[in-house]
Amino acid sequence: MNSATDFKTAIAEAENIIVIPHVNPDGDTISSALALTLIIEKYFKKNVTLAFIGKIPDVYGYLPNINKFINVNDIGKNQVFDVAIAVDVASKDRMNGAAVFFDKAKINVNIDHHRTNNNYGKINIVSPKDCSAGQVIFDIMEELELPLTEEIAICLYTSILTDTGGFKYENTSIKTLETAAKLVAQGVNPCELYRACYESKPQKMVQFQAFAITNAHFLKDGKIAYTLITNENMKQFDALDEYTEGISEALRQIKTVEVSMVLKETNDNYTKVSLRSKNVDVSKVASNFNGGGHRFAAGCTIKKPVDVALNKLLEYLTEEIK
Ligand code: AMP
Ligand code: MN
Ligand code: MN
Repeated sequence: MNSATDFKTAIAEAENIIVIPHVNPDGDTISSALALTLIIEKYFKKNVTLAFIGKIPDVYGYLPNINKFINVNDIGKNQVFDVAIAVDVASKDRMNGAAVFFDKAKINVNIDHHRTNNNYGKINIVSPKDCSAGQVIFDIMEELELPLTEEIAICLYTSILTDTGGFKYENTSIKTLETAAKLVAQGVNPCELYRACYESKPQKMVQFQAFAITNAHFLKDGKIAYTLITNENMKQFDALDEYTEGISEALRQIKTVEVSMVLKETNDNYTKVSLRSKNVDVSKVASNFNGGGHRFAAGCTIKKPVDVALNKLLEYLTEEIK
């Protein structure tokens, strides 16, 4: 584990820096990457290339500097960065096309909070007890005595808000709420950001989610809930990938449900799995299928068609859930 000072030294000595969020970006990785970019530009006066892999969900359009993100495919493959920073990236394979920049950088930095993170960077600031990557960045700022700005506060608050499911999940602690209070003191409006994140969905997204929930299956006296989403379903609803966000949580709302799963067919006919649970350690389940995540929220991509992936998962889970 490295310190904030190691991070500071690396940035201070760099000319060009790339910031890399994870594939299928969520609120934490996007807003943490933006916060880091703002910090490096404001306090270190360095040039930052801010990459994205996949698609940035439309809902995050309100974040400051969101237009600074460039598609990783538009960065020349021969470009070498002095420093590459991965943020909220549980494992290196979640960088897809950006891994080349991470590997070739003179110094690479891994800022994260996933318990399955194996410290793949040269500099590793990984804190599994923290609720979000944004909290890790907040701590780095405090240690380096870098003052918050309203823009940075909006990003860090969004990171914490989204990764705690609106201050609801087990990762919400005294520290989380104290950090949130400090961010509110910088001008963040909690209601405004809640509405931007959770009450700004397209109509067809909510209707698509209702369809996925209606089609859910239940096993083991309702302890396991799962729903399958095919490419055909996606077409039928004209759905974007981001429309699946929140379905697994919705299934977990059911009292009997211990583990909920969304199995989504990918374009190459593999299966992207979103796992949520109340007690079972689903990061272990996901790790068993080369994925990872947190105790009660994890994911993996199984290189099999949906029906095969489902059987493998159920086989594993029936051992876990009696
Ligand atoms: P998701 O279900 O995609 O929202 O992901 C839930 C949690 O698991 C998030 O913290 C992700 O970062 C993590 N996660 C999802 N997919 C993977 C994967 N393939 N490898 C490692 N971690 C993952
Ligand atoms: Mn994330
Ligand atoms: Mn996160």
